[in-house]
Amino acid sequence: MDKLGITKDDLTLRSGFFAGEASSDSMLRTLKEKLGVQQVYDTYGSSEITVAGGTCDYMNGIHFPDDLVYPEVINPTTKRQVPMGEKGELVVTTMLKEGMPLIRFRMGDITAMHDEPCPCGRTAVRLERIQGRVDDMVTIRGGNVFPTQIEIACYKCDFLNGFYHITVTRENALDVLTVDCELTPECANNTDKFDEYKAILIDHIKAICGVRAEINLRQPQSMPRSDELKAKKLTDLRKIFDNK
Ligand SMILES: [Zn+2]
Repeated sequence: MDKLGITKDDLTLRSGFFAGEASSDSMLRTLKEKLGVQQVYDTYGSSEITVAGGTCDYMNGIHFPDDLVYPEVINPTTKRQVPMGEKGELVVTTMLKEGMPLIRFRMGDITAMHDEPCPCGRTAVRLERIQGRVDDMVTIRGGNVFPTQIEIACYKCDFLNGFYHITVTRENALDVLTVDCELTPECANNTDKFDEYKAILIDHIKAICGVRAEINLRQPQSMPRSDELKAKKLTDLRKIFDNK
């Protein structure tokens, strides 16, 4: 929209219904403001299970259709179920599919399940916003980091447009986390403020992940856009270094 000069007043959208990637509150807030919609909904589903769940007006987690697909949350290491409300990997069993039934299929997504009633009246269990993929999680200097955490930090910075990419390398036996992120067109030429921008993002990342990051500020639209539905947000180069 920014590139084409389209403003939210040119659109007549009322609500936004989002799917495909993990979201954060700040990402949904930005989409709501930029698209000028009154309500945003988040969905969760996959091609393997064919059905999807979604948030209601209370944004109280994703109501998951547990009468069609039976969900469980497990500890990905022990593969045992975790108690209601505790984070783990989502595992599903399809109840109605005949062609390709799935039994305790590991979705690879990190979430937690809740069964307290929702004010909207729906009785299905609710899934917390997906925290990330089990295989996207990287361990940096002993701490676990998800790309979604970096995304939350980027969205806290009004000088960034939300596009980012994470690279993990190893220098002198130390893990190095580098975040490349695009500036907004309004802030792209404030070169005198770049050090300040970097320091703000470093602080947000440190507060959320407990890790200090190196920051590369990039010009708007300069980072490659993925043609695929899901953009690759993280490159871990440590294995290549380790094999040298
Ligand atoms: Zn509800």
